[in-house]
Amino acid sequence: MLATLRRIVQEVNAARDLEQALTIIVTRVKQAIKVDVCTVYLFDPAQDAYILMATDGLNPESIGRVSLARGEGLVSVVGETEEPLNLDDAPIHPRYRFIAETGEVYYHGFLGVPIIHHRRVMGVLVARQYDKRRFHDDEVAFLLTIAAQLSGAIALAAASGGIRGFAADQEGVESRPIVGLPGAPGIGFGAAVVIYPPADLSAIPDRQISDVEGEVAVFQAALEAARGDIRALEHRMGDSLTAEDHALFNAYTLMLSSPSLENQTIERIRAGNWAAGALRDTIAEHTRVFDLMEDAYLRERAEDVRDVGRRILARLENTPRDERKYPERAVLVGDEITASMLAEVPLDRLAGVVTVRGSGSSHVAILARSLGIPAVVGLSELPVGRIDGRELIVDGDSGTLFISPSAKVREEYLLLAREEERLAAGLAELRDLPAITPDGIHIPLYANAGLLSDINPSLHQGAEGIGLYRTEFPFMIRNRFPSEEEQRQIYRQVLEAYAPLPVTVRTLDVGGDKMLSYFPIHEENPFLGWRGIRITLDHPEIFSVQLRAILRASIGLGNLRLLLPMISDVGEVDQALRIVRRVHQELCGQGEAVTMPEIGIMIEVPSAIYQIDSLAPRVDFLSIGTNDLTQYMLAVDRNNARVASLYDSLHPAVLRAMMQVVVTAQRCGRAVGVCGEMAGDPASAILLLGMGVSNLSASVTSLPRVKWVIHNFSIGRARDILDEVLALEDTRSIRRHLDGILQQAGLGSLVRAGR
Ligand code: PEP
Ligand code: MG
Repeated sequence: MLATLRRIVQEVNAARDLEQALTIIVTRVKQAIKVDVCTVYLFDPAQDAYILMATDGLNPESIGRVSLARGEGLVSVVGETEEPLNLDDAPIHPRYRFIAETGEVYYHGFLGVPIIHHRRVMGVLVARQYDKRRFHDDEVAFLLTIAAQLSGAIALAAASGGIRGFAADQEGVESRPIVGLPGAPGIGFGAAVVIYPPADLSAIPDRQISDVEGEVAVFQAALEAARGDIRALEHRMGDSLTAEDHALFNAYTLMLSSPSLENQTIERIRAGNWAAGALRDTIAEHTRVFDLMEDAYLRERAEDVRDVGRRILARLENTPRDERKYPERAVLVGDEITASMLAEVPLDRLAGVVTVRGSGSSHVAILARSLGIPAVVGLSELPVGRIDGRELIVDGDSGTLFISPSAKVREEYLLLAREEERLAAGLAELRDLPAITPDGIHIPLYANAGLLSDINPSLHQGAEGIGLYRTEFPFMIRNRFPSEEEQRQIYRQVLEAYAPLPVTVRTLDVGGDKMLSYFPIHEENPFLGWRGIRITLDHPEIFSVQLRAILRASIGLGNLRLLLPMISDVGEVDQALRIVRRVHQELCGQGEAVTMPEIGIMIEVPSAIYQIDSLAPRVDFLSIGTNDLTQYMLAVDRNNARVASLYDSLHPAVLRAMMQVVVTAQRCGRAVGVCGEMAGDPASAILLLGMGVSNLSASVTSLPRVKWVIHNFSIGRARDILDEVLALEDTRSIRRHLDGILQQAGLGSLVRAGR
């Protein structure tokens, strides 16, 4: 059973579209458990009915035509109960409904299992037998496993255009949004530009071409070059190859010379797809044959075919093409989008960012926020490969995406975008006013920054300094460690742009989801692994070069504050301080006029919360990093879309932890700021004021909203609200309570835009 299951899942995952996926399911399941009929019904919310989408055994004409309204028939019983229904004599069940159109007879044996994705019933998988048959437990479990494993693939295919298949090319299709997570606020309109990692075949999108013969020539040249690569590789290995290795090389050469590989790909190019997309489909077709083989050795050959595909692709990607031209309004779309991918697009053409992975606190979202670009992340159901060039609406406030929206949806969004512009214009009036509460307390509002474009004065939104300068971004967009001088120049620009206002420079915080291509780290649990200060303490040569660059950059400015990330115990602070002092002394000894900056630590690991009384006296200030603190406190990966609904810094446990930090630090006479994304959420900002936090640092685009909160809530009122919130037991009630308060205060529009 297990082998059958694996093969079905593989075949379905390689299916071209929903129709093919469902046909594979019904055919294979029918064979596997030897039934007379296997059918899939999918629920269509638009029709409020289960539609027969695939069948092996009933009249194929009924596909797409026969439906059962919600509540009707045994299929609805399975949908309602969300449980398998196993009946040896279905017609005697009170909810049984005979459907003549399917050409059915009175089938007796019935087994239906729900297809559930993210708690939602997507449909029902049904097996039927003419004779009376009660299905065996193993068979029920088999169907359940198939349904559970395939629900994601079905949801993905369905998301491409409703359950009627990929209908987005049809004019006038009423578009339904794909729901993800808010990444960065705002509404973006533009054309999808799909970005994919190099030499990753499965990530290649379809792309229309006009010069077919030119594309065929590009493909043939790449194929020839890949053949040359294999020959050269074999030649270079020479005598060290065993007979078996030679056989492998021969197999590669054979595959690369196989007329079917070449001809099928050319055929696909002639059908209008570009070479990479055509190659992807040909390789998928070839691997499918191997994947289906019983023999494990032969099955593994599928990997060789994929490898051949990757080699041709690598050559295709090396083919000089015109520099990528971005449309006037480009929405970057990718499985994952890195800082360097973002940096490639001219900012004035970037209208939105859309990713399959990630959550509101992953770094792509943080970057998008700091650039003021609407973003939707965690769109696990996005058919990335099929939307290049399509019109998109990115609703970064609610976390939804429209593909090829209808005119009506577009109109509604244009209205909404205008409303948001008005709100932004209203908030802009606060821009140059200091952030002072009605009872006269100044809460400096700082900006979080990381890209050089962040320091563009037109973007700074009245920030009173930089509360978090993430130094890793300049590291991430290079292909080697930046030199001391390169770093010094970057830091100098930031420090100078804001002087005399303070700039808090955080030392390198890579690891987790921030990887350097030239310093790969492979770990099972990167967020619990080698991250932040752990890496820099293990590599003092990298740390001290950075510290030298930072200290030298600040000469004569006096506005530097230094921040250490990911502190989890006092030993790390002591060791880091020793290195900072040593570097400072060395520079002084070399005649550099450096001064010792204020030094702070990030509180973002739960262990630090319980050691504030030991940590605080060692440093000058503390900064709570709510992004990581929330992920570590709640055990919710900040990048995992599947659990993203559990990720919320307003969780009562996070609030209590933060209060403990503030209270203990104040007892030690140390100021506490907040530099995680929570500081940019208007509702949360009220609570942070109530806790007694002394400054807030957020993405520049969030600052006007937070300033509005500071202007409208006295510290006394914020404390009262904090008390009310602390009496609530769950995140949802807290969010609702705070939204109500913002509405009452006349800031209802922030409730939508503040997400
Ligand atoms: C944080 O963890 O809250 C933080 C500000 O740092 P980063 O998002 O860069 O991990
Ligand atoms: Mg962090």
